[in-house]
Amino acid sequence: AAKRHGRNHSQRFRPSLEVAGDPQLELLNELRQALAHGTQLELFYQSQYYLDDGRLAGMEALLRWYHPTHGMISPGTFIPLAERHGLMAALGDWVIDHACAQLSTWREQGLSFVPVWINISAVQLIQGDLEARLSSSLAKHNVPAAMLGLELTESVLLDERAGDISARLVALRNTGHPIAIDDFGTGYSSMAYLKQLPVDKLKLDRAFVRALPDDSADAAITSAVLAMARGLGLDVVAEGVETEEQRDYLRAQGCAIVQGFLYARPERVADVEARLKRDADMSFS
Ligand code: C2E
Ligand code: MG
Ligand code: MG
Ligand code: MG
Repeated sequence: AAKRHGRNHSQRFRPSLEVAGDPQLELLNELRQALAHGTQLELFYQSQYYLDDGRLAGMEALLRWYHPTHGMISPGTFIPLAERHGLMAALGDWVIDHACAQLSTWREQGLSFVPVWINISAVQLIQGDLEARLSSSLAKHNVPAAMLGLELTESVLLDERAGDISARLVALRNTGHPIAIDDFGTGYSSMAYLKQLPVDKLKLDRAFVRALPDDSADAAITSAVLAMARGLGLDVVAEGVETEEQRDYLRAQGCAIVQGFLYARPERVADVEARLKRDADMSFS
């Protein structure tokens, strides 16, 4: 009895039991398995359009995870988890490889020749060999770097662990990658950064677009960002455009590109392909 008691006692403190009781770590283990098998992960693509003529401008790849029991888990939940626990580099590699494979397929089929934009986590830059991972995947799938855009948030640009970020972005851009600052306006990057960094696009965060055009502060911020971007020769992509009123305001202020539910949701590949064929038919008729 003493022995059994002892065993029970020690079991209560076994790390594996504590892991099993921590829903976050359980989720992390399941994500690790999902990544190893590759079956529960999928890239969705959200189309972006030029405001002036309605042409397709690009597509953003957005990662989805179908959990066997919890259903679809938002990247807002599992990306930070992967970042905290050393899984983001592998997850990022999965995204790079699948986006390149998809680009290659669409190009071979003649379906799409616009860039696909992927989101890059700070962890991927800090780790140091992002450049090599990108170029080997592009080579493997025979896709030019110009077709694979990189979205970085402002916080990434200020992360000193990523080394000389400006030099690294110059190198990535010299390789041909278009570069966008994501969620622009929500971070702390100074205006001076924009002058010095080799950036092609600013993505105006959805937080500013949501209450357009009625919220006068958001309207002021939006038109100021657009004016500044114009002065710097940068295109602005407005995120989260859901209404015609938002679109009209953005157009009047000279915004180049829009992305949002008004135009397209993030879609599975089959739905994107149907959209691409529809667009092609429309332009030939
Ligand atoms: P993000 O890069 O800013 O992506 C835009 C988010 O806004 C997406 O959420 C998209 O579904 C959502 N969205 C687009 N248009 C609208 C709209 O009109 N209304 C509303 N309410 N939402 C809209 P999602 O897919 O849940 O992704 C959330 C975030 O997770 C992304 O924000 C990005 O930071 C991160 N993420 C997603 N996929 C990846 C990935 O492959 N790698 C990394 N590192 N991060 C990713
Ligand atoms: Mg993004
Ligand atoms: Mg964004
Ligand atoms: Mg955002």
